[in-house]
Amino acid sequence: MMGGKSNNNIQAKLVILGDMGTGKTSMVLRFVKGQFYDYQESTIGAAFFTQVVSINKTTVKFDIWDTAGQERYHSLAPMYYRGAAAAVVVYDITNMASFERSKKWIEELQKQGNPHLVTVLVANKADLSTKREVEIEEAKQYAKENGLQYFETSAKTAENVQELFYELAKRVAQVAPSTTSGMKLQTLTQENEKRLFCCSA
Ligand code: GDP
Repeated sequence: MMGGKSNNNIQAKLVILGDMGTGKTSMVLRFVKGQFYDYQESTIGAAFFTQVVSINKTTVKFDIWDTAGQERYHSLAPMYYRGAAAAVVVYDITNMASFERSKKWIEELQKQGNPHLVTVLVANKADLSTKREVEIEEAKQYAKENGLQYFETSAKTAENVQELFYELAKRVAQVAPSTTSGMKLQTLTQENEKRLFCCSA
């Protein structure tokens, strides 16, 4: 510790986008609570979670906005990706339409988002490979052409979920190495989780 560089605390807004049913909420709950539900209730509007990832001396505190995938909430999306340090665009490997929808999100982020936004394409439900509709090669190729990192995950089995958020934290720390925030980090508990509701159907 003596003479060492002091800890770097970064607070980063992270938005999760993608079609309804692709597993966005499940992925966040897997990451934040280590849990999975076969019958996950739909998110209304958006839900907010926090989680901390430590990389050596850097601590990244993610403020995670889990958005509802329904088209009727689309106009709210800019509120969530504006000012975000990272965006996770999720599709379901068993659903080609969700992959097509993820491309639309990527286009929207490229057009309106910040050029430094760390964006990853996430193929979820990797455990359902027998029902796969989106080939890995096709998705990888798309990700490569668009300069995105690509992950295959399963919120159900936890495959690659920690790896995804660790990588995001690393990338966010690289992009903003000097943006230290003076905030104190506290142990995050369930009480810190808030669900925000808006916009009735
Ligand atoms: P969201 O609408 O994108 O937030 O999706 P949810 O998290 O609500 O998940 C939709 C459904 O897919 C739920 O029934 C989840 O249990 C299920 N699900 C989510 N992730 C996975 C996964 O990785 N594997 C499998 N088999 N099911 C999943």
